[in-house]
Amino acid sequence: MGLWIYLNGEFVPEEEAKISVFDHGFLYGDGVFEGIRAYHGKVFRLQEHIDRLYDSAKAINLAVPLTKEEMIEVVCETCRRNNLTDAYIRLVISRGKGDLGLDPNKCPQPTIVNIASSITLYPEELYRIGLSVITVPTRRNIPEGVNPRIKSLNYLNNIMAKIEANIAGVPEAVLLNQEGFVAECTGDNIFIVKNGVLKTPAPYLGILEGVTRNAVIELAQKRGIPVQETVLPRYDLFTADECFLTGTAAELIPVTKIDDRVIGNGEPGPIFNQLLEDFRELVKVDGVDIY
Ligand code: PMP
Repeated sequence: MGLWIYLNGEFVPEEEAKISVFDHGFLYGDGVFEGIRAYHGKVFRLQEHIDRLYDSAKAINLAVPLTKEEMIEVVCETCRRNNLTDAYIRLVISRGKGDLGLDPNKCPQPTIVNIASSITLYPEELYRIGLSVITVPTRRNIPEGVNPRIKSLNYLNNIMAKIEANIAGVPEAVLLNQEGFVAECTGDNIFIVKNGVLKTPAPYLGILEGVTRNAVIELAQKRGIPVQETVLPRYDLFTADECFLTGTAAELIPVTKIDDRVIGNGEPGPIFNQLLEDFRELVKVDGVDIY
């Protein structure tokens, strides 16, 4: 049986969930989105996702026609309509239907879509043995252009990097920023551990400030692990004791090889293992109840 999709105020079967070819989300990637996760009947950090969505919309001057409370209800109701307690949720707001020009003023009504389904990003075994990743030539968007803090529908920058990873035969790419410092991966934030200190690139370097990233920082602080949001050259990746990625879809996944250098002892490290365990506990309690 197919899914029920939220589309502009209604729930429709997926075969009927269609949008115009004149939608500027389709024509120009003009819009914003969120990837959200529900665990055990709770939508994990839904308020944070909604806040980021509205900030992204505001940054591109897109007025969302629903209140945040209404949007939270849309997300929960989509899960209920599909009888889901565990889900990957994709909430999308595009500029809406316009003409063939760029002008957003010609798009009177944003398109709002919410899909509650599932996603498997990486095979289970990679969570045990860790990913092999590479740094790629494609640089992360500059903050003065489309700031990476905007979770925009235009993911071509990230897709270019993913293509480079695909060609190299690895599952993920690390993008550097314009200065050559580590930014993030195509759909995940990156962390390293060195001498017991957890380090991750600071948001001003040009990254998406991940909800999972922020949760992991809090979990580390609760454990008394020192955390630094800082500047990381590739050197710090190569010489790290541990490395891992975070994201709503991937959750926490270890990295054991970067540009052919073995990270640490080549296995997921103790701080990663601890934080993963803590994260699995956190998602059981930290969320908005669907039912
Ligand atoms: N960076 C990018 C570019 C992403 O697309 C994502 C996933 N949405 C993340 C980081 C991780 O963010 P979050 O933990 O909020 O999913």
